Amino acid sequence: MCLCGNELSFNLCCQPFINGDKIPTNPEALMRSRYSAYSKGDAEYIYKTYAQEKQAENPIKEIAEFANSCQFLKLEVLETDDFIEESFVTFKVHYLFSNLLCTLHEKSKFIKENDCWKYLDGNIEETPEIKINRNDLCPCGSNKKFKKCHYK
Ligand SMILES: [Zn+2]
Ligand SMILES: [Zn+2]
Repeated sequence: MCLCGNELSFNLCCQPFINGDKIPTNPEALMRSRYSAYSKGDAEYIYKTYAQEKQAENPIKEIAEFANSCQFLKLEVLETDDFIEESFVTFKVHYLFSNLLCTLHEKSKFIKENDCWKYLDGNIEETPEIKINRNDLCPCGSNKKFKKCHYK
């Protein structure tokens, strides 16, 4: 299974996009590969796949800091709305920030630049954070206690 949750393995799913061997032909594939890049801490790919006008406000260093401070658990793609020049993907990303289980619930907007899909921005729905105690079950679904699994 790929990091993004697809049945295909990582080297057939998101890796070719992250390596630059292939270009995502639809916004969902781009979105999934950005998620996988976040979980791998590949800040450069995330930077590159921002729309040009958004790159200045999202420096690689900040992307890397965020990616490295989180443990990404799961991506759920909820809805895609594809149009010719712009598209929307609604998704939830579940991640751990220290002992807080956070959910990013976002409707992302993607645009085409030189025939490639790029991430422009998104509307975020506020989702409460849940504090996980060391003896709770880990939210990754491993059935292990948090302290023996994703606890840092
Ligand atoms: Zn994938
Ligand atoms: Zn875990």
